[in-house]
Amino acid sequence: MALQRMISIAALLLASSAFARSEVAPGIHLIRGRFVPGTQPDGNTVIFAAPDGLVVVDTGRHAQHTQTLLDFAASEKTPIAAVVNSHWHLDHIGGNDLVRHAFPKVTIYASDALAAARTGFLASYHRQLEEMIASKTTTPEAAARFRTEAALIDDAAQLAPDIVIDTPGVRKIAGREFEVGLERFAVTAGDVWLFDRQGGVLASGDLVTLPAPFLDTACAPRWKESLDRIGKKNFELLIPGHGPPLTHRQFDVYRAAFSNLLQCASSDATKASCIDRWINGIAPLIRPDEQTFTRSLMDYYVDVLRRPVAETAKLCKG
Ligand SMILES: [Zn+2]
Repeated sequence: MALQRMISIAALLLASSAFARSEVAPGIHLIRGRFVPGTQPDGNTVIFAAPDGLVVVDTGRHAQHTQTLLDFAASEKTPIAAVVNSHWHLDHIGGNDLVRHAFPKVTIYASDALAAARTGFLASYHRQLEEMIASKTTTPEAAARFRTEAALIDDAAQLAPDIVIDTPGVRKIAGREFEVGLERFAVTAGDVWLFDRQGGVLASGDLVTLPAPFLDTACAPRWKESLDRIGKKNFELLIPGHGPPLTHRQFDVYRAAFSNLLQCASSDATKASCIDRWINGIAPLIRPDEQTFTRSLMDYYVDVLRRPVAETAKLCKG
């Protein structure tokens, strides 16, 4: 009984903190994306108050995450005027359609990279989902999750941008000025970051992710160059694609760990030692109880970094 009670309290705490929203700077809010081992993550959502409404960076994947965003807009009595997608991964664009339904006048900004992903990575992911749904070993709960995921890909036209960001530079979005970065062939073929110089906050998308970099669609060496470019910006707070906000000094810790990881993966060092190097590097940025999960992610991602050049070349083109 006591154990059962503890479990339900833990579940409650998880549920209540899962979509926790906080004000990270005046007029700038963060909805933390969930990352529960064994399930697909939601990316962080950053919300800027702007003269013409809210400017939102990324809309999450699961409906619960996006609903937290819609509830916030309702509580502020302010429409979502614009969404800026940092990149096309489903944990960042998955909520676009719900936002469009709630705010039909919203303008969605993103790079052009989703189009190629729809015929490439997402098409093959869709085929994998279909196979898993059809598999006799898949539980009904898992099959339902896979169907929701496949439906997102079917819906990709609704997730696509209204305005394509094809050059970096300063631009006004919903009446607020931002420096908009565009990184080619880093985490994806087109990664967008947003720097609000007035508030000193930079939303980096998955160019910074804790507790591990998601390297599946990445060109690692160019990703490193992007981090070096971002490091030159004088932000006070960086909101990563996943994980807690970082000060500039904490970002430098992440950047050094990333660089060390690449160096290790391209050397003869064992996988275990590269994982240790990553864990030691980012130890100041994660909770001790996240280390086991981080190790399991890196057990996969060091192999990803060591894929043959022929496989990764297409991710680095351009
Ligand atoms: Zn992500």
